[in-house]
Amino acid sequence: MSTPTPVPVTPETIRDVPKVLLHDHLDGGLRPGTVVELAEASGYRGLPTTDPAALGVWFREAADSGSLERYLETFAHTCGVMQDQDALVRVAAECAQDLAADGVVYAEVRYAPELFTEHGLDLPTIVETVQAGFREGERRAAADGRTVRIGTLLCAMRQNARASEIAELAVRYRDAGVVGFDIAGPEAGFPPTRTLDAFDYLRRENAHFTIHAGEAFGLPSIWEAIQHCGAERLGHGVRIIDDITVDGDGKAHLGPLASYVRDRRIPLEMCPSSNLQTGAATSIGEHPFGLLADLRFRVTVNTDNRLMSGCTVTSELAALVDAFGYGWADLRRFTINAMKSAFIGFDERLAIIDDVIKPAYAPLVGDWRASRPTAPAGRPAPR
Ligand SMILES: [Zn+2]
Repeated sequence: MSTPTPVPVTPETIRDVPKVLLHDHLDGGLRPGTVVELAEASGYRGLPTTDPAALGVWFREAADSGSLERYLETFAHTCGVMQDQDALVRVAAECAQDLAADGVVYAEVRYAPELFTEHGLDLPTIVETVQAGFREGERRAAADGRTVRIGTLLCAMRQNARASEIAELAVRYRDAGVVGFDIAGPEAGFPPTRTLDAFDYLRRENAHFTIHAGEAFGLPSIWEAIQHCGAERLGHGVRIIDDITVDGDGKAHLGPLASYVRDRRIPLEMCPSSNLQTGAATSIGEHPFGLLADLRFRVTVNTDNRLMSGCTVTSELAALVDAFGYGWADLRRFTINAMKSAFIGFDERLAIIDDVIKPAYAPLVGDWRASRPTAPAGRPAPR
């Protein structure tokens, strides 16, 4: 038997393998052309340009500018055109289609329902409408021969006082595809313990949640999210690096919080390009992802806001490959890390890992035994 030629790791080949996404904002992932058309249809004024290509550039530059005002303006525009049901269905459906086209097989997409009430939609209607949009997008992707599953995370905004209401909504729609809860918005001045009631409620309801923590703000935010609030995952969590020192011999020493996060296998929803834009990291090469992955933290690779960062899961992985020299075995690890950390049931996660992810990566990493898609009937494959 001849030795197969190794497949190079390029953006094209990365796009072809199954990928998993845990941290992606619905209002940060619109197509520029869709923003223009929805603005026109709804009478929304205030877009900086109505040329889709120029608008796409504007979004990236505004997010890159280092100015918080301009950064927030980007979301004012996307949320501004997402205030009626037709718009929500379209944005959610296109999100599922775009992720499927990028080779994503499972994604958890999040949004804050309270941002879409400006024209009078109520919260349950918003949730039901977005769910309908995701299902429509999954159907269209299937018609194109691609299977993607979207789980929804409902976010509460830290600066508002609606966390309990949104948490109740997440539990109410758990059987309709809402798989968890999150809090987003400014970290400084709004510690996660402000919304402790919501997290206590979710735990009593056996519901899942992640918390944006350790992005702009440091270790206290991560510590509160895990030890006071009970977060199962960390949105970003990149500042956990502040609890790690590397000595002159290159040996890393973990403080107690970093050890806890690694020992408990707490997933880090890392978003490298987004971190560059917000100043949480200076370059991909200097991003803590490299050290955290070397130290075997449960790192996952995410987009955060595809429109503002001009990125996809493929481009994020390709950037990490460029910076750190990762191969297929590393990409498989990050992908399985993400799938293990998803908020859907254990049996469903395992099915995607065993039947979709492992068989696709097996020939790429030279593990031919695992490329057999299913175990013989009646005998589960050893793990
Ligand atoms: Zn985020």
